[in-house]
Amino acid sequence: MKPLVVITGASSGFGKAMAKEFHDAGYPLLLIARRVEILEGYGFSNTICAKADVTDRQAFEKAVRDAEKIYGPVDLLINNAGVMLLGNLENQDPEEWKRMLDINVLGVMNGMQIVISEMKKRQHGTIVNFSSLAGVKPFVNHAAYCASKYAVSGLSEVSRMELAADNVRVMRILPGAVNTELLSHTTSDKIKADYYNWLETTGVGGIKAEDIAKTVYFAYEMPQCVNIREIQIADTRQDA
Ligand code: NDP
Repeated sequence: MKPLVVITGASSGFGKAMAKEFHDAGYPLLLIARRVEILEGYGFSNTICAKADVTDRQAFEKAVRDAEKIYGPVDLLINNAGVMLLGNLENQDPEEWKRMLDINVLGVMNGMQIVISEMKKRQHGTIVNFSSLAGVKPFVNHAAYCASKYAVSGLSEVSRMELAADNVRVMRILPGAVNTELLSHTTSDKIKADYYNWLETTGVGGIKAEDIAKTVYFAYEMPQCVNIREIQIADTRQDA
């Protein structure tokens, strides 16, 4: 059997598309999200669905260890779970900053620390962290989100360097705007309306979650000696 793939945030958007991509390719999966009923609804074979919040280190680690008892060590961890709560720094509720930094940054670091030691021991493994174009360039009303995604870009590259000698790959993927549930959690109606207006006027929207899933699959399937360190991927019509 192929090795175990773990995908966080698999109940929607990119995570859901990647779950299908890797399942169809025959990988056993551990799918993690808070809405576990959605994961169970996929009806995938060789798949464990775990209800866990990535900020809950114990629950996250237990889900991984339980899956490893059945399918063996994790060879690919995709740290995809994330939230985007847009707002400007002057007015945004600091609780939203905290939620984003907890999930988008500490959730990723939790995942990495859970799998790193075993990957080093085996001298094999891949970690894919979801950053964003907002992790290398600024966008209006994205201050806290950019802070979280710049953090993911930075910590991914540092850990890539730290794990290089042990043949463990760390990749970061930086998507542009893709239509998923992501924007729906932003609380400002004005910011959401401006964003939708930008999508409409630019014509951004052709790119799909499945395109991101195929790209991650391609990067993972390259030989272990090849590390595609960073992928920036966006709709052709996205000019920002
Ligand atoms: P979605 O909102 O569609 O999906 C987010 C997923 O994350 C859901 O499955 C959600 O599941 C999960 N999630 C959120 N919080 C937690 C948590 N605390 N613990 C566990 N799971 C959690 O967003 P996308 O698919 O668009 O986004 C996926 C990643 O890609 C994110 O990191 C996002 O920042 C990044 N990204 C997205 C872009 C886009 O335009 N779509 C652009 C650039 C980057 P549940 O609620 O069930 O827990």
